Amino acid sequence: MKPRSDVALAPLCTMGVGGPARWFVAARSEADVIDALRWAAARSMPVQVLGGGSNVVIADAGFDGLVIHVNVGGITRQDEGQAVTLRAGAGEAWDPFVATAVGEHLGGLECLSGIPGFVGGTPVQNVGAYGQDVSATIVRVHVVERGSGAPRTFTNRECGFGYRTSRFKHADADRYIVTAVEFTLPKDAPPTVTYADVVAYFTESKTAEPSLFAVREAVLAIRRRKGMVIEPGNAANRSCGSFFVNPVVDVDALRRVQDVAGAANVPHYPADAATVKIPAAWLIERAGFTKGTSRGAVGISPYQAQAIVNRGAARAADVLALAIDVKRAVWNTFGISIVPEPVFVGFAPSPELRFLLTHQRSH
Ligand code: NAP
Repeated sequence: MKPRSDVALAPLCTMGVGGPARWFVAARSEADVIDALRWAAARSMPVQVLGGGSNVVIADAGFDGLVIHVNVGGITRQDEGQAVTLRAGAGEAWDPFVATAVGEHLGGLECLSGIPGFVGGTPVQNVGAYGQDVSATIVRVHVVERGSGAPRTFTNRECGFGYRTSRFKHADADRYIVTAVEFTLPKDAPPTVTYADVVAYFTESKTAEPSLFAVREAVLAIRRRKGMVIEPGNAANRSCGSFFVNPVVDVDALRRVQDVAGAANVPHYPADAATVKIPAAWLIERAGFTKGTSRGAVGISPYQAQAIVNRGAARAADVLALAIDVKRAVWNTFGISIVPEPVFVGFAPSPELRFLLTHQRSH
């Protein structure tokens, strides 16, 4: 394990912006992760973890410390009768891992097809889409504690999963580095066809009992329509996917949005007994940032208003400025505070950045 200096980070991030890492190491095993932590601790150097780079915006100045690129690979399989436990290294690319599971006729991940990034990032925000989330199938998460360098394993219960969240995102943010994740997946399970978009896809194609593979293909097709699959020819390739979390609000906040936009016009879905989810994309478009809006080197995705895209040669400062304007427009129009999903790395503190990252109380 020998860190290299001044390594460009933009090519490792789907947004494709930002400066270099002062020091950088690719950690291929748990032991490498522990070594890297020791190396940084010996130099009192800050550490930034990087996985698939799909949920991070790196500052133009880069990161003045050690970036640990978690490249721990390997997939192992344990047969458990009606189910199989797949253990994947945190550095395995997520979508090929889903393809492996589907290829082995294992259920539980098919709706999570086409999501960029690595396996290790998925428990952190309990990645979910189209009716499934990883907390339903994760059985164990293997981590290294940053402070002590000690390995530790969390059971599903101990992960504190919630809607797009876990202990790794909040209570224990920045405390652990995920090195491997275990998923227990049922054999030959019927696929999950519950999400409206997926149901509509199979109604249109008149498919009564789609296979796991067909559901994977359907989700990929739906994501493609939204420009959410990173592949050649996609004008929205350089982005963090959804830039803002879909806000979960109380009924008073929903009523305020309805007062502005007309009660019948506001899409919303129950989150729990007292709250509803409002699609961030809808709020953003109604606040004036329609699909395809461009502002120099950055813009709003032509497919999906929730994604900010690098139109070529963008700087991190351009991304930040547009994100702040989008947030301010939604706040001023509807009194709803939307917060970004990506992590901001290396940015100097400023009132604007604080405004962007903070969840303001409704006014
Ligand atoms: P979308 O499908 O229009 O979803 C926008 C929001 O509306 C989501 O919060 C979604 O809830 C909710 N929603 C839509 N249809 C629903 C229904 N029939 N019942 C209940 N809630 C419904 O647009 P999108 O933003 O492109 O999202 C597509 C999928 O990807 C969603 O499942 C979304 O959650 C997921 N996604 C996940 C992440 C992540 O894991 N970090 C990031 C971006 C998008 P749900 O969130 O409960 O589905």
